Amino acid sequence: MKESGCFDAPWLWMYNQSRTPGTGRLRTRDARKAKQVFIPTTRQECKALGWEKLDIILVTGDSYVDSPFIGVSVIGQVLLKAGFRVGIIAQPDVQSADITRLGEPELYWGVTGGSIDSMVANYTATKKRKRADDLTPGGQNNRRPDRAVIVYANLVRRHFKNTKPIVLGGVEASLRRIAHYDYWSDSVRRSILFDAKADILVYGMAESTAVALAERLQAGQDVTDLRGICTIAKEKPAGAIELPSFEEVARDKRAFIDMFHTFYRNNDPLTAKTLCQQQDTRYLVQNPPATPLTQPELDALYEIGFERAQHPFYEALGPVKALETIRFSLTTHRGCYGECNFCSIAVHQGRTVRWRSEDSIVREAERLAQLPDFKGIIQDVGGPTANMYGFECEKKLARGSCADKRCLYPEICPQMDVDHGRQVALLRRLRQVEGVKKVFVASGIRYDLVLADQKHGARYLRDVVRHHTSGQMKVAPEHTQDHVLQRMGKPGAAVLVRFRDLFTGLTRAARKEQYLTYYLIAAHPGCTDKDMRALKRFASRDLKINPRQVQIFTPTPSTYSSLMYYTEMDPFTGEPLFVEKDLVRKERQKSILVRK
Ligand code: SF4
Repeated sequence: MKESGCFDAPWLWMYNQSRTPGTGRLRTRDARKAKQVFIPTTRQECKALGWEKLDIILVTGDSYVDSPFIGVSVIGQVLLKAGFRVGIIAQPDVQSADITRLGEPELYWGVTGGSIDSMVANYTATKKRKRADDLTPGGQNNRRPDRAVIVYANLVRRHFKNTKPIVLGGVEASLRRIAHYDYWSDSVRRSILFDAKADILVYGMAESTAVALAERLQAGQDVTDLRGICTIAKEKPAGAIELPSFEEVARDKRAFIDMFHTFYRNNDPLTAKTLCQQQDTRYLVQNPPATPLTQPELDALYEIGFERAQHPFYEALGPVKALETIRFSLTTHRGCYGECNFCSIAVHQGRTVRWRSEDSIVREAERLAQLPDFKGIIQDVGGPTANMYGFECEKKLARGSCADKRCLYPEICPQMDVDHGRQVALLRRLRQVEGVKKVFVASGIRYDLVLADQKHGARYLRDVVRHHTSGQMKVAPEHTQDHVLQRMGKPGAAVLVRFRDLFTGLTRAARKEQYLTYYLIAAHPGCTDKDMRALKRFASRDLKINPRQVQIFTPTPSTYSSLMYYTEMDPFTGEPLFVEKDLVRKERQKSILVRK
């Protein structure tokens, strides 16, 4: 994998530089001297740093947990290291003047719904209100408003007239950046940039864009050509691909399908073109995605001394459950070439996998081992899919993703040189870190990749079975009926059975008692009661299990499966498609599978 040198990386470069005196910005070394590791959330903390004003204020729907797993924390820390004065207001009280707590920023407001789309966080797949929230102090779902991005943008404007630019980011904004189907209102909605009446939307993994934006705004420069952003324009930009208008896609399902195909194909940083879409009298303009972080940039990101804890201001309100799984876990890579149709990672993180160096991951493990409450267990080493670390298609890295085919479906593309060798080496090194007793791989494993790897697949699985499984290994076949799997973009049941046999053999050889946990989906577009009964038979007869991990399909914004759900058509063939839309019958599909 070709990587550029450290000094090509804009924010990494800034990380290593001193700031010009008199700019009013905090120098990185000053921040360290002041022992500021948490980003401030109160005026008192700002004062302790000698900050009268902040450059950027981030507003989020989650509690503030300072962790490399939490997007707003990563963006805040990267901005801080680049020399900007940053504050965070987490889960502001929307009834009071809480949003004014840190004053008004000099450069921009960064608004996010949090780590999950607020509607997904607040409602079940059958639209019931969720009681629990893993990223709210105390665990009760009582602080995240529905459509949090819109609510927070309105809140800022209500309290600060003619304020600095409001910049939307995070998953909710990213997946709702063009006209999209919204399951909860069962309607096509405009870009959230229009609904939130904000100025800029940053999509995808936003570290470099957030810094570039701050730099340009500080210098008084135009930002509209920045990669990775959407803006609003009065005119159609020259050279942009025009998507069917919001009005047209809201009226015509075939136009909606055409729009989505064009949107999806223009998502690779090497090949994407600028897109535009008329929303009212104005245009949404989507610039090509930001260039992904190189390996040195990713490594530098994980050198930031995250606290891996909830900020004390919020900790006082109660613990957050999410910390239990992320506190002692390691991220090895980002992006996913699996492209399951129900998953939004491809549209948010991208289809190209970028990974950290082994040294960087081992250094982070060593730091974890030094933490006072570390008990010797690394809970997870993984990414969106555990075993995509360390290999990518050379063609994709050089010329971008293919527009007309997928890397893993219906078969693994011969250009993808599947090789678990780097993962085997990484896991071996992690096992040897002093103070580490156990290293688990808890992220899902893509079993077709394991079977396709003639060089190191069996060795990888043997090591995971022997050393890295805590009794249960997670796999996500999602279904076993071919025509449902085809709608999902997942491999067939025969591959699953081969993997199960290999796993069972290796487990016996290791003299261990451990099992596969199968993640399954009910009520996906194309799936009927009959399909669920067939899946139940397969599970009982062939897998010898009574499934427990069964989810009802949730049509999240901007996925191919949501497109099928809304249009009731196969978007690739145009054929009509059965879709279970009745909430009671969706529950029934699930109960067919889980009943004893
Ligand atoms: S050549 Fe194959 S592996 Fe490479 S991007 Fe295209 S589909 Fe994916």
